[in-house]
Amino acid sequence: PEVPVGSILAGSAARYGGRTAFRHGGAQLSHEQLWRSACRFANALGAHGIGPGDVVAIHLPNCLSYPIAYYGTLLAGATFTPANPLLPADDLAAQLADSAAAVAVTCGAASGTLTSVLERTEVRVVLVANPIGELPPGAVEFGAFYREAGDHRPVIDIDVHQTLAHLAYTGGTTGRSKGVRLPHRHVVVNTLQYCAWATGSVPARTADGELVLDQVGPADEWPVRLGTGVAINLTPWFHAMGTIAALNAPLLTGYSVVLHDRLDPAAYLADAERLRVTIIGGAPALFAALLAAPDFATRDLSSVRLVTSGAAPLPVSTIKVLRERLPNAVVAEGYGLTEATMGAVAAPAYRSGLRKPGTVGVPLPGTEVKIVAAEGGEDPLPTGARGEVCVRGPQVMTGYHHRPEETAAALVDGWLHTGDIGLLDEDGYLSLVDRKKDLLLYKGYNVYPRELEELLAAQPAVAVAAVVGRPDDAAGELPVAFVVRAPGYADATAADLMATVNDLVVPYKRLRELHFVDKLPVSGAGKILKRKLREQLPATDA
Ligand code: ATP
Repeated sequence: PEVPVGSILAGSAARYGGRTAFRHGGAQLSHEQLWRSACRFANALGAHGIGPGDVVAIHLPNCLSYPIAYYGTLLAGATFTPANPLLPADDLAAQLADSAAAVAVTCGAASGTLTSVLERTEVRVVLVANPIGELPPGAVEFGAFYREAGDHRPVIDIDVHQTLAHLAYTGGTTGRSKGVRLPHRHVVVNTLQYCAWATGSVPARTADGELVLDQVGPADEWPVRLGTGVAINLTPWFHAMGTIAALNAPLLTGYSVVLHDRLDPAAYLADAERLRVTIIGGAPALFAALLAAPDFATRDLSSVRLVTSGAAPLPVSTIKVLRERLPNAVVAEGYGLTEATMGAVAAPAYRSGLRKPGTVGVPLPGTEVKIVAAEGGEDPLPTGARGEVCVRGPQVMTGYHHRPEETAAALVDGWLHTGDIGLLDEDGYLSLVDRKKDLLLYKGYNVYPRELEELLAAQPAVAVAAVVGRPDDAAGELPVAFVVRAPGYADATAADLMATVNDLVVPYKRLRELHFVDKLPVSGAGKILKRKLREQLPATDA
């Protein structure tokens, strides 16, 4: 449908009005309240001359101000750029300058970093939610900025194919983040693809032409029912998975989202039982933590219907435990990237669908996937051959911001070259082998760290593991593992673990070192940062 992103909120307000959309601690926002506040915020932006062509940076953790600022920005016709509130000052300055943001919405806890970089940016309006103490000079309290503005919907001309909704920055897992250009239509389409996947619904319109969903498939077949359900959310809204799956999709489908500030497995599991949670979604780090928590075995989790994981590989051993422990739930992994708005491929979510653990599923509706030679070329490789995963569909970005060369390399005839190595099976299911940038080369042989990580993760003594290469003059690179021990396995030895894993692989893939660590460095989106691990390699073999 050719509607702007604001139509999702307008439709949800019309259909789910008084239902809770988001809850945080003791406070909550209904769909209707969110709509009114977002319109006010949009009108306040308009009164400051902010509209189409302007960029609003949201430098907030997940909180109730976030959706107001997000939808208000889009209703005003301006572009949303999300910034991780924990970004170091230089990275924040780089992003604000690259996006040319004119407005920044921050919070008391993060405003210090923001104000320290302001003079390196074009930001001229600073809004602070939940201020701590005095406001920085020139800044305005977030609520005060829009509270007195009218709550009518602003009349703005938005070209859904051209007007940028998101200027989203990639996770920065492999290097410096890149700005990804996503017009309104991309965000609406990817939200619809996700919702259709979870609910078996099709887009429809209210009498006013706003976007809503209608159930078409048999409701019992799909794990999420329109207008019902609760999810606990930890996925940051500054990440693609958060903005689509945990901000836009819940509004369109009408399930409530309860915000948790940090990953506290005991609190998570207690809330899951108390609130009769129906959806559990997040990055693999969430599932690793839940499985390791003692309450995981004892809490009543019978209400859970859908478990979704994305952003990084979910070990098959984890899927197995989740399936056994949550027999009422569909456990479905998905694959995506910021360059595809969020999602591109997912295991079927309907109950009778075929899910193949170890694969990330099949392309979302309207999406195509092909595998090409990793060294280059556009011709699809035969079924089963490993190569670079390419994705084409209406959710694929129009390009990187200010990076014409990288855009030309990444987008060829509409095909997005993802930088991920994978293969398709005879049923069209995609398996990811590894990231191109993480591959190791040992004496000319490819070693895929993920294979070793899967073998390690399947050992009871291992909570999480990551494998990187140690540069070696003779061999090229040697596989080295970093392992966090599982609770109760303090006496597990590196020699035993290495022996177990090395027995299962051909000699050139063998681990040469294994180091125990308390935790692995992760990005804001919860991904293991291998570039940091490479820096942590001990100087000599331990
Ligand atoms: P950068 O591109 O800046 O290095 P990033 O790749 O982490 O950061 P994102 O767009 O957040 O940026 O992440 C997309 C990547 O995440 C994919 O290219 C893929 O490598 C990985 N990924 C996503 N889903 C999965 C999954 N289900 N299994 C394995 N890897 C996944």
